[in-house]
Amino acid sequence: MTENRLQLTCFGARGSVSVSGEGFDIYGGGTSCYAVNFGKNRIFLDGGSGMVDPRTGDYSAEAAKEIVLITHMHLDHLIGLPYHDGLMKSGHGITIYVPFEAWIEKLDTLFSPPFWPLHLTDYAADLKIETVPEVIDMDGCRVTHVMGSHPGDSFIYRLDYEDSSIVYATDYEHDNGECDDRLVEFAHGADILIYDGSYTPDEYEMYRGYGHSTPHKGAELANRAGVKQLVITHHAPDHDDAFVKKMEHEIKTIFENSIFAYVGMVL
Ligand SMILES: [Zn+2]
Ligand SMILES: [Zn+2]
Repeated sequence: MTENRLQLTCFGARGSVSVSGEGFDIYGGGTSCYAVNFGKNRIFLDGGSGMVDPRTGDYSAEAAKEIVLITHMHLDHLIGLPYHDGLMKSGHGITIYVPFEAWIEKLDTLFSPPFWPLHLTDYAADLKIETVPEVIDMDGCRVTHVMGSHPGDSFIYRLDYEDSSIVYATDYEHDNGECDDRLVEFAHGADILIYDGSYTPDEYEMYRGYGHSTPHKGAELANRAGVKQLVITHHAPDHDDAFVKKMEHEIKTIFENSIFAYVGMVL
């Protein structure tokens, strides 16, 4: 584990719903879940089905602190939470942050009978569910957020620690206006911008208003924001490995330091 910079691991980069089988081995089928390690701490970005990966629990035993930042309440960002190994560890401290106070109760309802056999707070871990404050200072890692652009609202998070920074902007629909300007300013100079690349530009025309974007727009915004690396996430469930790989080649010609996230990717 690196001590003085943020280390990003992808556990799920699929959007909307999990997929599996032939054609999904490379980029993976689990939905949105990333882990950011620094020092002995760990921050999860969303708790989608990628969180089922047993490696999400590898660090929990030694993690001094662990938090989960939820961008919004769509199921593909929550459904893996009750499978997180860290929840099974007695006394292990975990705080799940949601954007709005009203969503704390909704999350508790989602993971309670009859939808789920028990409440998340019934697990062995010492779990708290709270509203994300303006700033979280976690042993020198500063977590901030701005409003994204997505049906029902979604937060964009930025993590700054020593000289490294990561911005997580998934489930984001570009608008060529105010919200893009806000994202560009917020992501300015970041080492990594994780960006919603659900659709090709042609697909986007069919799905305007669904709350997602294109890798092409991500490349444009990454250029404007002056970020060092672009990580495309939320791959559409019907985009198999060959399709994603082809788009990845194309995007590298627009923003050279681009990568399409895959399960097991460590940056
Ligand atoms: Zn999503
Ligand atoms: Zn969503």
